[in-house]
This record gives sequence, structure tokens and C-alpha cells, in this order.
Amino acid sequence: MNIHEYQAKEILKKYGVRIQEGIVADTPDAAVAAAEALNASTGTSWYVIKAQIHAGGRGKGGGVKLAKNLNDVRDISGKIIGMQLVTPQTGPEGKLVSKVLIAQDVYYPGETPTKEFYVSILLDRATGKNVIVYSTEGGMDIEEVAEHTPEKIQREWVDPRVGLQGFQARKIAFGLGLEGKAHKEMVAFIASLYKAYNDIDAALFEINPVLKTSDDKILAVDAKVNIDDNALYRHPAIAALRDTAEEDPLEVEAGESNLNYVKLDGNVGCMVNGAGLAMATMDVIKLAGGEPANFLDVGGGANAKTVEAGFRIILKDPNVKAILVNVFGGIVRCDRVANGIVEAYKTIGDIKVPIIVRLQGTNAEEAAEIIKNSGLKVYPAILLKDAADKVKEVMAAA
Ligand code: GDP
Ligand code: MN
Repeated sequence: MNIHEYQAKEILKKYGVRIQEGIVADTPDAAVAAAEALNASTGTSWYVIKAQIHAGGRGKGGGVKLAKNLNDVRDISGKIIGMQLVTPQTGPEGKLVSKVLIAQDVYYPGETPTKEFYVSILLDRATGKNVIVYSTEGGMDIEEVAEHTPEKIQREWVDPRVGLQGFQARKIAFGLGLEGKAHKEMVAFIASLYKAYNDIDAALFEINPVLKTSDDKILAVDAKVNIDDNALYRHPAIAALRDTAEEDPLEVEAGESNLNYVKLDGNVGCMVNGAGLAMATMDVIKLAGGEPANFLDVGGGANAKTVEAGFRIILKDPNVKAILVNVFGGIVRCDRVANGIVEAYKTIGDIKVPIIVRLQGTNAEEAAEIIKNSGLKVYPAILLKDAADKVKEVMAAA
């Protein structure tokens, strides 16, 4: 699960990670009030207005702007709130901005220049360790740095059983070329950051940029945090930060019915029990010349209710021209699934796309009979090849 920058920064701050201070606002009036409050608490009179969406690259898309007085704060916030922000990570349709973070400007000029670093922590599945990725080339696209100057990206692996060691944090600070106060600050920054990452069961922390100010403070200017969904039950306060407006509405609806759904760009909807069979089914659709419109795993207990929820979700996708149901009746009997499909079809009514139903396993023959005799626009199949041929046939006719 992803959370917003302002939420991530609140968590970091609790763990003693120094951050660029800010206050979230959802109207221009609230933005001005936030700026006034920031002025009172930090003394800043320049502010950064930052669009809060679950995507990076906001700076490039015009979602991060500097304001040098309260009028600017009002004007810029008014423009950013309600805008459809397009960044390299949102796709061409962009994302609706409903909140902005009013933050203190931390790039104040001084005797020593400011410097931007890159620091992230993530799980390295290959080694079973956490890895801290760091670079002196912060503030820009890390993908670009990785492509053109990979030697500028350094890594430090942390064994989760022993945790981050002091020498590792110091090695990172040295690796970033820091000395004196900035070095000490970076060591503390990395230690607090790692503790936060570990405690909240995060899957990714990405801080880009990490800023060294002209007075040698180290702070997080941006914060991208992803939390392991499987651990969310241990963190109800974090689970409550979920913003479903940022997620695909069909995926949210599927989650509510306990369906495992991922929307794709194709035209053949599929409903399958079991993740492995679902992937195999998507391959079959491709072999038949179609493109899967989704991944949908209805789980072990496919019944009329889950099948109905699955159909409703698949049918909301306007690209869907046919649906392939592929269920293996092991624990669940095929005839019961077939009855569930007929029942769901009648409840939904007015289904315009053809549905090919392949049921294999316990009572497969009875199931095919039930489908055949239903009088609906549903085609039975027992062999996967027959199902694929039927998909090809209905797609050609569509
Ligand atoms: P992203 O574009 O979504 O990654 O958003 P960031 O939070 O990283 O902000 C984008 C860029 O805005 C940063 O790389 C900085 O260069 C700039 N920026 C952020 N905060 C400040 C600030 O306090 N003052 C100034 N002048 N620029 C800032
Ligand atoms: Mn950033």
C-alpha cells in the first residue's frame, strides 16, 4: 500500500528523521492558514506547494512550486488543487490533486551550497536482506543515473536478523562524501530511517532528494513509502492512511469482495480460481489471438456470490468483448459453479458479451450440461483447447 508524502513525513518525523516541515491543505484558504502556521513555527517566509498524489515526478509535471509570499501561496494552491496532474509516472490521463502540502522552503542560500542525495531502503528478495541504495546524484531521475552512471549508485545490505550496524551508517555517510557535522547528521538520519522502515514493515522507502542544507543539516525533502500489504494488520493506524481515491476503482471494489483483481489493457475478461491457473489462462487467451483484459482470481470457493461480483467487475471495463471463465473443480464442484454462473448471469441481466465457460474437474460433465441447457449466451467447454478456440471464434465475430 502506498501513502502520501505528507503522511510518510509524519511517520518519519516520529522516528526522529529530520524532514522538510509542512502542513497539508485542501483549499486555498487552508493553504494560507498552513503557511501562516509554518511561518510561526519555523520562521520561514518562502514556501513550497506540493501536490499530494501517489506518483513521483511531480516537480516535472508542475506539481511542485515555490511561493514567496501568502498571495502566491493562495494563487498556486488554487491552481494545483483540482488539477489533473500528469507526471512521467501517472500515465497520460494524470491524477486528480485534492490536497497540497505547504512546506517550508529549505533551499535557502548560504556560504556552503546545498546538496541533494538519493537514499532508499527496500527488500532485496535475492539475498533475503534489506538494501540501502544511496547516491550523490539526488534530486533527479534515479533511473537515468542507473543507466548512464551506474557507478554513482552504491548499495549497503543489512541483515534483518542483526539490523543496521553503526559502521554501515558511517560507511554510507563517507560514501556520500560527507565530513564533520553533515557526516554525523547523515549517520543519525540513516539510523532513524532504517528503524522506521523496519518498524512499520515497509517494502520501500525512497527519499529523493535527501538535502544537505547550507548549515549542514540533513533532511528528507520528499518521501515515498510503500508498506507490505501482508503486514498491514499489524499497523491499524497505518492501514487507516489508505487513500482509495488513488487506486484503481475496480481493484478497490474487487478487494471488498475478496477477489484478487488486476486490470489490464486487453479485451478478453477472465475469471479463474487460483493464481497459477489464472496466469496460464492469460497465456491461452494470448495464444488464441486475444489480449487479457484483467487478471482475476476468485479463490478456492467459487460460488454464485463471488462469480457475480467477478462478472460485475469485469463488465465495468468497456474494452471487454468476451469473458472466459476457467475454473478447476477440486474442492469446489463444477456443477455448483455452473449453477452459480447461471444464477449470477440472471441476476445481473442484460449481459451483451459472450461468455465461454470451461469447467474441469469434479462433475465437469454435469456442469457442461447445466451451461448448455441454460438458454443463455454462455458456451461450455471442458478442454482448454476448446475454450481457446471458442474465444477465437467469438472474438472474430465481435
Ligand atoms: P517529485 O518531483 O514528485 O519527486 O517531488 P519532490 O518532493 O522530490 O520535489 C521535486 C523538486 O522540487 C525537488 O527535487 C527539489 O528540487 C524541488 N524542491 C523541493 N522542495 C524544495 C524547497 O524547499 N525549495 C526549493 N527551492 N525547491 C524545492
Ligand atoms: Mn522526489
